[in-house]
Amino acid sequence: MVKKILIVEDESDLIKLLKYNLEKEGFRVSYATDGSIALAEVRRDPPDVVILDLMLPGLDGLEVCRQLRRSDKFSRIPVLMLSARSEEADRIVGLELGADDYVTKPFSMREVVARVRALLRRNEQAGPQKSKLQRGDIMIDPMAHSVMVSGRTVELSALEFRLLHHLASHPGMVFSRDQLLDSVWGNDRTVTPRSVDVYIRRVREKIENQPQQPIYVQTVHGVGYRFAVNGDE
Ligand code: CA
Repeated sequence: MVKKILIVEDESDLIKLLKYNLEKEGFRVSYATDGSIALAEVRRDPPDVVILDLMLPGLDGLEVCRQLRRSDKFSRIPVLMLSARSEEADRIVGLELGADDYVTKPFSMREVVARVRALLRRNEQAGPQKSKLQRGDIMIDPMAHSVMVSGRTVELSALEFRLLHHLASHPGMVFSRDQLLDSVWGNDRTVTPRSVDVYIRRVREKIENQPQQPIYVQTVHGVGYRFAVNGDE
C-alpha cells in the first residue's frame, strides 16, 4: 500500500523539494503551511508519517506534535521534526509529547527519505494491531486479514473485518455507534449511525453460532456495542 507523508512547512521551496523527492520514492505526499491546517489535514486523511517543521506561523511544530500525541486516533503517527538547531531538536525528541526523530537543516534528501523509511518500519513492527487475536473460538489475523471460527475460515468484507477487529481489540469496552463510525469508517462518513447496526448484524451472522443470541458481539442497550470479555461467556 502506498504510504502517505504529510509535510508541514511554511517555506514553499522546501515543500517543493521534499514533495518532489518523496514522490519520486513512491510516497503519496500532501502538505500544510501552518499548524492548524496540518491538524485539519491529519483528521481529513491521516498520513503514515508527518514531517514537521519546528518553526511555523501560528501553532508551532512542538504544539502540533503535542496535539497529535494527545489524540487517541493519531498518537501513533510517527513525527520527523525539521529543525535548524540540533540542541533544540534533541530536546524535543526527548520530550514525552515530542517527535520520534529529527533532521537538522540543511539536510540531504537522501537522509530525509532514510529517516522516513526507518519510522515506517519502526511503526509497523511496533503495531500491536498486527498481532493475532484469539477470542474464544475466534481467531483474527490482521496480517492475513482473515478470521477463523472454530478452525473454519469465514469471509468478511474489509469493513466487517475492521469493525470486528476494533471491537475484539478492546474486549469489554463499550463503543457508541458514533465512536465506531469514527474509528472504523474514519473519513468515509457516507454512512449513518444506523448503518453500524447493519454491519454488526452481518458480522454476527458470520461469526456467531446463534446470531440472534450473540455471544461475542454484544448489544449494550441505549449505548452501543462491545466484544465479550472472555469470548465464551
Ligand atoms: Ca519554517
